[in-house]
Amino acid sequence: MPVADDTTTESLATEVLEVLLSTEETASVSPAEILRRIPAPDAAVDAAVTHLLDAGTAVPAADGHGLVLSEAGRRRAVDAVRRHRLTERLLADVIGLEWWKVHHEAARWEGILSDDVADRVVDLLDDPGTCPHGNPIPGSANLPDQSSAVRLAEAPPGPVHVVRVTETIEGDDEALQLLQGAGVVPGDDAEVQAHRDGWVLVAGSVRDAALPPHVAAHTYVTPR
Ligand SMILES: [Zn+2]
Repeated sequence: MPVADDTTTESLATEVLEVLLSTEETASVSPAEILRRIPAPDAAVDAAVTHLLDAGTAVPAADGHGLVLSEAGRRRAVDAVRRHRLTERLLADVIGLEWWKVHHEAARWEGILSDDVADRVVDLLDDPGTCPHGNPIPGSANLPDQSSAVRLAEAPPGPVHVVRVTETIEGDDEALQLLQGAGVVPGDDAEVQAHRDGWVLVAGSVRDAALPPHVAAHTYVTPR
C-alpha cells in the first residue's frame, strides 16, 4: 500500500506550509517539530515535506537543520492560511460546527475553496479579522491589535478577556475541549485565580478549570 496518495500529500503539504508560516518569526522549523505538530502518520508528513522541497516552496535553512519558506512558498502559505481561517469562520459562524472541531474540518475543506467562494465568505462575514481561535486572517482589513495580549501562563490574577489560542494547539482536541468546556474561548471573559506549578486556575465563562502548562502557554488574554 502506498504511504500517501496525491490528495493526502497535497493537503498535508498545506499543513506543513502553515506550520512554517506560523513559526516564521522564530527562524527555521526542525523536521521533528513539523511531525509533532501535524496529527498524521510520520511517513505521510515526510512525503509532504519532500514534495515541498522538490517544488522549491520550502528550502533547507542556513542552520543546516530546519526548513524555511522560499519567497514563492511564503505567498502560497499566506494564501493557504487565509483560506484555512476563512473556512474555519464559515464552519463556526454559518454552519454552527462546535468550536473545538473547526480546525480539523477546515483542513479537509480549504483545498476546495475557490477564490470566488473565499470572496463570498469575506462579504458574508464582513471581512473577519481573525479565525474562531483569534488568529489573524492575512489580507483582512479588520486585523485586531493584539499587542497588549499576554500568555495566560504569565497573566497576573484578575479579570481577563480571552483573545487567542495559537495555531500550535488548534489541532489538540483535548486542549480545545478543555478550553471550550470552561468557557475560555476567544471573545469570552474569564478570571485568572492562581498559578500553581505552571498550571493556571481560571474561572471561565462556563466553569472553573485548571489549565495545564502547554495550554496556558498557548492561550493569550488581555487584562480588563
Ligand atoms: Zn483557527
